[in-house]
Amino acid sequence: MTASYLFPPAPTPSLPVVGTDQRFPVHRIFCVGRNYHAHAIEMGRPVDKATGKPFYFTKAASTVVESGATVAYPPGTANYHFEMELVVAIGEAGFRVAESDAARLVYGYAAGLDMTRRDLQLVAREQGRPWDLGKDFEQSAVCTPIVPQGSLGVLTSGAIHLQVNGETKQTADLNQLIWNIPELLADLSQYYHLQPGDLIYTGTPEGVGAVQPGDVITGHIDQVGDVTLIIGQPE
Ligand code: MN
Repeated sequence: MTASYLFPPAPTPSLPVVGTDQRFPVHRIFCVGRNYHAHAIEMGRPVDKATGKPFYFTKAASTVVESGATVAYPPGTANYHFEMELVVAIGEAGFRVAESDAARLVYGYAAGLDMTRRDLQLVAREQGRPWDLGKDFEQSAVCTPIVPQGSLGVLTSGAIHLQVNGETKQTADLNQLIWNIPELLADLSQYYHLQPGDLIYTGTPEGVGAVQPGDVITGHIDQVGDVTLIIGQPE
């Protein structure tokens, strides 16, 4: 029986996949906080892996925007930040997976921007409130086409960097992730039944900063891709 809706349901958010016309339907977006030491320090919250655990926030699937887009400078902020991140795209279900079994969950990888209203995030953080206004807003999850895992396997290293108007702002290596991909999938799957279509933004290196209308963000991850975002005028 076909459901009858009061109004048309929202379209399924999706991303292109390199090498095929089929698209990757996005189910959920998990984001890892403070997963590079130097970024944790610049945010004033150093991480001790021996005693700490990864933590997460989420963005709605509807916040996905494809690389190359122009997005309006968002409302409610005067401190709109870029965060360059490796994105892991999940292609198989997994619950309480072992680190040694994590690779089978990975469909592929993308280069992403976790765009952030930093002023709103920090107010929320200081007041012990949720981060949603700072993180989960329209067009805040920028993502390239997904590169299937193929022979890449589980990525453990590779350059990751970001420029604004051609000037380098972030540069690091994936081998600096505090919690690597198998560790993240093992941990996150303790709390969620990971599903095909889930995206995991794995955290950003140091050097985050603000952008203005007219700025062009470009980012790169070795073997994964190049992401671009153009900042438009506020609405
Ligand atoms: Mn982030």
